[in-house]
Amino acid sequence: MKILFSGDGQLGQMLGASAIQHGHECLLYSTRSQQVKPLSAQLPLAMTLAEAIDWADVVSWEHEDIPAEVMTLAQHKFLMDPARIQRLTDRRAEKKLFDDCRVPTSPWQSYQSVAELEQLLQRSPHDLVLKAARGGYDGKGQWRFRSGDDAVALAAEAGQQAGIAEQLIAFDHEVSLVGARGKDGSMVCYPLITNVHRQGILSYSVAGATAIPAALQHEAERCFQALTDALHYVGVLAIEFFVVGAGDQAQLLINEIAPRVHNSGHWTMNGASCSQFDLHIRALTGMPLPQLRVQPTLMLNVIGVDGIPAGLWHHPQTSCHWYNKSPQPGRKVGHVNVQIDDLESAVGWVETWAERLQTLA
Ligand code: ATP
Ligand code: MG
Repeated sequence: MKILFSGDGQLGQMLGASAIQHGHECLLYSTRSQQVKPLSAQLPLAMTLAEAIDWADVVSWEHEDIPAEVMTLAQHKFLMDPARIQRLTDRRAEKKLFDDCRVPTSPWQSYQSVAELEQLLQRSPHDLVLKAARGGYDGKGQWRFRSGDDAVALAAEAGQQAGIAEQLIAFDHEVSLVGARGKDGSMVCYPLITNVHRQGILSYSVAGATAIPAALQHEAERCFQALTDALHYVGVLAIEFFVVGAGDQAQLLINEIAPRVHNSGHWTMNGASCSQFDLHIRALTGMPLPQLRVQPTLMLNVIGVDGIPAGLWHHPQTSCHWYNKSPQPGRKVGHVNVQIDDLESAVGWVETWAERLQTLA
């Protein structure tokens, strides 16, 4: 088949590599330069977006912020309504979807103006996280409000744009579920992945290293099914959760969803029988979704540094992925997947490498 992806960043490249492995052809549409590009070479083709859409059998995306021109021209080439996906870039629509699907999420309210936010802050009995409705990523566009903070000053800053105020959750840890839904409604999910953030940016993920309580995995998959059924979704989607409480008392609260392949699923490139990118391609092209086998894996993000040290490129337990991006503090420029024996060995790798691989600010 011929597949066109909206977006030519690292996710588009990794999806494209997978498409080729499956015997498909692939083009990328750069949403920044509005050019059609072949996979891997930064060379624009003498082809318009309309011509690329004409060429394609199916159109998909690396990021849910699908440009209007792609949605309009490619309407008939998507496997689901792209407008429903694009709307999820607004946190208010995303939270409303959780409520409509009756999946648990942190309590929230929306605000439109400085005055409305000021009132909301003054009346809140809880500590809050404020999130701009649109445009936030890697913890950007967020503010914390704790009792005793200056509501007027914070509202004056955060209320410049519409947003949501969420209860600050005292979580035990964070996990994500990455899975895929096929055209026939079938679904498969990887085991829950443990994620650790530093300054709002995903620092590392650990997968397959601990026994996940069956009830938690089941509840996460129930949420996945409810959300993807409601969206008539086809492809890979990730759900980020807060785990509140520990042991038998642990409960999941959805933080947000990513209707696409996700950074916390990058470990699957080396740690699973089928990567999240392969899974997305299989779903798009109507192949059956396979059973998933996983090996204990650590994914360490490479953030804001100008290369991955040679020792990691040559280490027999690692697989390095470099995105060919210019480094800036806080910018994800690669990741390293590490075969681990257990959680303890993952912690050892993180202690040795995280600081060296990550310049956050
Ligand atoms: P990304 O797109 O990189 O996943 P983001 O900028 O979209 O991140 P969130 O995932 O909403 O934003 O928040 C980033 C991190 O901030 C979360 O992973 C979590 O660690 C913390 N956080 C967000 N919301 C809350 C909350 N309500 N309570 C406690 N911590 C929170
Ligand atoms: Mg997040």
